[in-house]
Amino acid sequence: MLGQMMHQPLLIKNILAHSQMAFPTTKIVSRTGDNSIQSHLIGDIARRSAQLAHALDALNVQAGDRVATLAWNDHRHLELYYAVSGIGAVCHTINPRLPQKQIAYVIEHAGDKLLFVDEGLAGLLEKVLPLVKNPPTIIVLAGTTSPLPPLNADADLLNYEVMIGDQADDFDWPDFDENTASGMCYTSGTTGNPKGVLYSHRSTTLHAMQVALSFANALHEGARVLPIVPLFHVNAWGLPFTCPLVGASLIFAGPFLDGPSLFELMDSQQVTSAWGVPTVLTAVLQEIKRAGRPPKGLNNILVGGSAISLGFIDDYEDLGITVNHAWGMTEMSPIGTQGSIPASSRHLPLEKQRHLKKRQGRGIFGIDMKIVDQNGDEIAQDGKQSGELYVRSNTTAAQYYNNPEATAEAFHDAGWFRTGDIANIDATGNLLITDRAKDLIKSGGEWISSLEHETAIMTHKSIAQCAVIAVPHPKWDERPIIIAVPTSDFGDDKDSKVRAALFEDVLSLLGVEFPKWQMPDALVLVDELPLTATGKISKLRLRQLYRDYFGDTNE
Ligand code: ADP
Repeated sequence: MLGQMMHQPLLIKNILAHSQMAFPTTKIVSRTGDNSIQSHLIGDIARRSAQLAHALDALNVQAGDRVATLAWNDHRHLELYYAVSGIGAVCHTINPRLPQKQIAYVIEHAGDKLLFVDEGLAGLLEKVLPLVKNPPTIIVLAGTTSPLPPLNADADLLNYEVMIGDQADDFDWPDFDENTASGMCYTSGTTGNPKGVLYSHRSTTLHAMQVALSFANALHEGARVLPIVPLFHVNAWGLPFTCPLVGASLIFAGPFLDGPSLFELMDSQQVTSAWGVPTVLTAVLQEIKRAGRPPKGLNNILVGGSAISLGFIDDYEDLGITVNHAWGMTEMSPIGTQGSIPASSRHLPLEKQRHLKKRQGRGIFGIDMKIVDQNGDEIAQDGKQSGELYVRSNTTAAQYYNNPEATAEAFHDAGWFRTGDIANIDATGNLLITDRAKDLIKSGGEWISSLEHETAIMTHKSIAQCAVIAVPHPKWDERPIIIAVPTSDFGDDKDSKVRAALFEDVLSLLGVEFPKWQMPDALVLVDELPLTATGKISKLRLRQLYRDYFGDTNE
């Protein structure tokens, strides 16, 4: 027997309409490229999105067309999210930190018809366009008085504010199937070309609701949320949808993503919750230490994208700032888990509870997870046995866009997505990522987890950042070495004895937890570590840089 309830399609337009009706004082504050602050009410954003929808119509954008953005976080980018999806087209956000060849690849692979570019990124686009066979029409995200940048002479340039300025500010948003594609994001391929994930109105709306449920301590009416995570990568973790849904204001940082600028913005805009990857939130922490106080009003942060250390958690929580932890992937819209201390563990001594915070957490509602061994067979969730993590949910991709090879590899187990993460899950469903499959180190036929080593090394007071990587070795196939950035008080001590003593110290720290054969063979100190397009430490680049550390093993 079927239920007898109405069926309303889950469409993104309903989020904006709901926000405008229920939370009209919700603000969207942007620091734009010229370093000025612009503030809009959610109703202004709805009206400007309607104007943009008319302009897209005038440019003959049809349902299903891909409309690209190459832009930092601000209100115009948010308007594109709502207007493009609202007319049934697909908002394809492009990561400006990708190599130029890959930017050209994703424009071509997605078949973008229009491309909206920030004034400040026009120079980059100018270099990319000659690499694209059928370049899209370019619209510059600029104020009416800004002179248009001299992009590629063939590009048909338009100005955003001029384009929307004379349009009517209401729009009869169409209804359509909730499975219609709404957005598109390419994973930053560490090897090979990026792979496209095509989100739908249904998956996006469900994700917004699920995130609201799981992070209610951060996302609620009156909260002021800073997505340091970019709108150009996995929908800024869904915040452009979840915040309006619950009546939280959005504060956008534009291109100013260094620690001092973020601190100043948080302070002046009284941000209550900031969301970002560990590298950028560590830069904020340094600024907090320099200023001798946290930004006014900052109540919590949400950190995800890479593992976090206990020191990081302690530093924030000692200031009274709650650390929310999440794990996710581009393919998962992106949030999969919520790291917190389960009620059943709150009686434990504080020291044990602290360690639980490092775990990536329990699946948010609707996420199924399983751990499989090398044969693809499911293994027990006992918090001890690690294997590859597979997931499924209504907010997980079912395939990659126009990419049968990558689809066959990641979706070979019917109904499940293979994450490529190595993990264990305990009896309370609490996930711990122990490594990326590709970052594991195979020494003499045995596996070493780089992430577990890094977590231990990061507890050393003189280590600010580190990566443990596999380096080809003539006898053992691979051996681990540590590449680390020392803390500023260690300074640039060139004395080899001091360095050797630090390595000895780190080894004795690791020796408490790990067997002797797993001990790294070297500690290399550097000034900074290379980052990926999404701000994570690039182990691929490090492996390339140090591949001959034990001599040329290809001889
Ligand atoms: P990309 O790195 O290409 O941008 P994603 O943003 O989709 O891709 O990154 C997903 C990967 O990031 C996960 O598979 C996992 O390895 C890592 N990751 C994400 N969140 C966490 C976390 N909280 N702890 C450890 N690793 C994480």
